[in-house]
Amino acid sequence: MTLRERFEIKVDKRDGPHACWPWTAARLKSGYGTIRDGRQRRHLLAHRAAWLLAYGPIPSGICVLHRCDVPSCVNPEHLFLGTLADNNADMRSKGRGKNPPTHRGKNNASAKLNGDSVLEIRRRAADGEPQRAIARAFGVTKSTVADAIRFRSWAYVRGDSKAPADGAGAMNGGKAPEAANQGNRDE
Ligand SMILES: [Zn+2]
Repeated sequence: MTLRERFEIKVDKRDGPHACWPWTAARLKSGYGTIRDGRQRRHLLAHRAAWLLAYGPIPSGICVLHRCDVPSCVNPEHLFLGTLADNNADMRSKGRGKNPPTHRGKNNASAKLNGDSVLEIRRRAADGEPQRAIARAFGVTKSTVADAIRFRSWAYVRGDSKAPADGAGAMNGGKAPEAANQGNRDE
């Protein structure tokens, strides 16, 4: 099946074209849905897939945000593009600027990141952008960027980035070797 076909059967549209469309398949603990990118055997965030299917590719470094404040919603009408700064401001205004529950690690700087931004960081690093420049763009320290790239933090976030994958692209059971061994998974 194509990405679109697999996407469509996992969306609950029963409340109509303008309502929230909850994602009915796998979700991160943050509420964002995930869908496997069949070609690359990795995971996309479902609302990013929704944007991609409705409007086309998402520019590098750009987040897909929810107008409706429902992380699992994949109705393209409820989505808009923004920078990471927009995303952080948006999260703060909605009272969601805290660490997501899946990351209670010691490194509080990671609180500035979210699943989307981590995927963007990994993508930009894979494209050869210096970590220092990425850190500046996302308003975090270089070590936070390095941790995200090496899966010492955010190990459960797997997307369509070129970050090293380890086979089946498991989300929570993903054995990013370093992350698995360093006690970061203190859920
Ligand atoms: Zn919605």
